[in-house]
Amino acid sequence: MIELTHLTKRFGDNVVLNDICTTFPEQETTVILGPSGSGKSTLLRSLNLLEHPEEGQYQIDDLQVNFAEPISSQTTFAVRQKTEMVFQGFNLFPHMTVLKNLIEGPVHVLKKPKADAMAEASTLLKHVGLADKADAYPSQLSGGQAQRVAIARSLAMHPHYILLDEPTSALDPELELEVLKVLLTIHEQQQSMVIVTHNMSFAKRVANKILFIENGDVQYDGSAAGFFASENPRIKRFIDSMS
Ligand code: ADP
Ligand code: MG
Repeated sequence: MIELTHLTKRFGDNVVLNDICTTFPEQETTVILGPSGSGKSTLLRSLNLLEHPEEGQYQIDDLQVNFAEPISSQTTFAVRQKTEMVFQGFNLFPHMTVLKNLIEGPVHVLKKPKADAMAEASTLLKHVGLADKADAYPSQLSGGQAQRVAIARSLAMHPHYILLDEPTSALDPELELEVLKVLLTIHEQQQSMVIVTHNMSFAKRVANKILFIENGDVQYDGSAAGFFASENPRIKRFIDSMS
C-alpha cells in the first residue's frame, strides 16, 4: 500500500502540494480529481519519483522514502518497479513493433527470458483487444489503440500500482471509450491504480476512493460513493462544473 505523510512540493514561491497526508489502498482504484493546475499531475508524478517534493514521507510496501533527504538511485529504481506511469501521450518506442514495445522492459529490466516475455505479451495484447497488432508499429495505430498498448506495456512490468495521468485526454470520445473499458476490466481484476481524470462518469464507475485537491490542498479524501453524494457546496460545484 502507498502512504504519503506531510508531502509538500513548491515550485519557487508556488506551494503546489500543501502538507498532503493520504493513502492509496492496494487492489483498489483511487481517482484524483481537481481543477486544472491544482497539483494532480505533480502528486501522481511524485509517486513515481518524477517529482521530488521538498518535504514528506512516502511509503510504498516495504520501501520508505524521506523527501527531505537525497534519494538514492537504488531507491528510485525500486520505487519505479512498483509503480508504472502511463502518460497521456502514449510514448511508445516508435521504431519498435507493438510486441517489441511490450517485451522491452520485461527482458531488459526484469531479466525475463524472451520466450516467456513474448508469451505474456501476446496474452496481454489479447486482453486489451489488440492481438492482431503485435507486428504493427506505433505510427500505424489509432490513439486509442496506442494507449491500450501503453496500458498493456505497463501491465507487463507487473507493478504494484499503475499510475495514469489523464489517460484519455488526447483521444476522441469514441476512442476514449475503448480505453476506459480496458481500464474498467483491469480495475475489476483488482489491479491497484491511481488515475487522474476529468471524466466524471468514468470516475464514478471506476473509483473506490476519491482524492479531491484544490490549490494543493486535500478537499476530500474518502469513498467515491461519499464524494458523489456529498452535500459540500464546493464538491457539488466541482461535480456540476465537470458534468
Ligand atoms: P494539474 O495536473 O492539477 O493540472 P499540475 O500538478 O500540473 O496541476 O500543476 C500544479 C501547479 O504547479 C501549477 O500551478 C503549475 O503551473 C505548477 N507547475 C507544474 N510543474 C511545474 C514546473 N515544472 N515548474 C514550475 N511550475 C510547475
Ligand atoms: Mg495534470
